[in-house]
This record gives sequence, C-alpha cells and structure tokens, in this order.
Amino acid sequence: MAKKIMSLLSGQKPVFRFAPSPNGRLHLGHALSAILNHDMAGASGGRFLLRIEDIDLTRCTTELEQAIYDDLSWLNLDWEKPVRRQSEHFDDYRRGLEQLIEMGLAYPSFMSRAEVKGIVRDLEDVGQICRRDPDGAPHYPAYDKQRSTREVAALLSSGRKHAWRLDMEKAIAHLHKPLTWEETGKGSVVTTTADPAAWGDVVLSRSDSPSSYHLSVVLDDAVQTVTHIVRGMDLYHATSVHRLLQGLLGLPVPVYHHHRLILDEDGRKLSKSEGSKSLEALRKDGYHASDIRGLLGV
Ligand code: GLU
Repeated sequence: MAKKIMSLLSGQKPVFRFAPSPNGRLHLGHALSAILNHDMAGASGGRFLLRIEDIDLTRCTTELEQAIYDDLSWLNLDWEKPVRRQSEHFDDYRRGLEQLIEMGLAYPSFMSRAEVKGIVRDLEDVGQICRRDPDGAPHYPAYDKQRSTREVAALLSSGRKHAWRLDMEKAIAHLHKPLTWEETGKGSVVTTTADPAAWGDVVLSRSDSPSSYHLSVVLDDAVQTVTHIVRGMDLYHATSVHRLLQGLLGLPVPVYHHHRLILDEDGRKLSKSEGSKSLEALRKDGYHASDIRGLLGV
C-alpha cells in the first residue's frame, strides 16, 4: 500500500491525519482508522497528524478530548504536536463561508430540523416523493431559497435564528464539470466520480455552531496540507460534498482511502451513541495494544 500511496504523489511528503470528535469514547472502529493512518504514514515516510474535531460545543468536552490522547497513547501511536483543535479556528471557517456567500452559492435557512420533518411528513402523506440524502435525511425543502431578497433581509435583521446552506444546484453549475477523486480503499486506485447532488442543500454553518463538519473538514485538510484521508466507509458518500467544496474554494484534493467498518455481533456499525464497547472498557478488561491490533488484523 505504501508504494501505491507514493506513486500518487510526485515527490510530496505524504501527510495523514486522524480526526476524531471528542463527543464520546473511542471504539474499535476509531482504533482501526488511527492505526491505519499512523502505519501508512510510517510506511510511506510521511507525517501523522491528530486533529480534534470539536465544533459541536454542546457535545464535545475536554475530558473526552483527554480520553482520546489516553487511548491513542495506549495504542502506542504518536502524533505531531501541537494538535489542531477546530474550536480554536472558527474564524477560518467563517471566512470560508463568507467566500461562498460572496460567490452567491450560500443562502440563510430558517427552518429547524423538526419543521423540515413536519413538512416532509405532510408532503409524503399526500403521496409526494421527498428525496433523501445518503444518510437517509430528507433534502432541505426549497422554501427558503424562494424568499425575496427583501424578505430575507427582514428576517435576518429581526435576529431570526438561521443556518447557512449551500445552494447545491447553483454550486454544481458553478463548477460545470464532473468532479472526481482517487480512491484507494478498494485495493487499487479507482477514479471515483463525486455525486454531491445526492445530498441536497447541505448545511455550512448552524445557528449554534459557526461551521458544519463538511466546511471545517475541507478547510482544515487544506490548511494542514493533508495529502491522504484514511477514514471509515461511513464517510464515503460525504466525500462527494468535500470534493465539491474543494472545487469551489480552490483547495487541493487529497487521495481518499475509505476502510471497512467494524461491526458488532448483530452486524451493526459500532457507534459512540449506541454505547459500543469503548477502547477504555477493553483496556479495563485486560486487553493490550497488541490484542487490539490482533482483533483488527492490522
Ligand atoms: N470527525 C469525524 C468523526 O469523528 C471524522 C472526520 C473525517 O475523518 O473526515 O467521525
């Protein structure tokens, strides 16, 4: 794999990153991502970075951030310091958002998730088909995009809570060419065509958070000169949005490697919110880092 990685780079030192969110304890799926990034960086003479993705100030805590450092140290991984913490870079994300607003590709959206759900339920009740994104969430309805400039200005100046969304149709039209990325997760290098339209008008910033995952991840990967993104298959489809944002903001495109997911006994993907067994629990059960590698086959 190291050779394949090098062959995709013309003399550039590879940069890998593991980018967990401190909103729960890490599990075996995270261990696989972290170990693969670390080992691929080592095998290719590259750098291994750790980024703390803590834009969700309501769910991320410093205790959970410390737990990430503890778990990764226990796995015998080392990473470059200082660590980039997204909560310290909201200005960078705001600038990215402003760029998209100035390009006429972002609009303020005023509906809450519950309101969207209600609208979609009503439409589906009368037999209308509402498109859903690859994660199963309904596309954001077009109502806010149809408001007049005056109405939008009035809503904004009244202090009404809002998010900013990417106008997907306009954004795709702006680039007017198919977008691709190089994917190495399937054992060979596959040129993959992005399908950002599948996501509808994705969120760029929320009323309670100045950035969304999609926006901050592409800006940070560029700032940190990340050349290789190794992460779980659960983020495979999100790459289409990332590829679009890279195109719009003129950012470099890393190589992507989406790895298999670790499943529980019932065949479900491990998840912090589902209470999957954490690395801490495995440690307390007497497992060692070598046992974790053994379990994961890496
Ligand atoms: N912060 C994301 C997560 O914990 C990962 C982002 C990424 O690897 O691109 O799921």
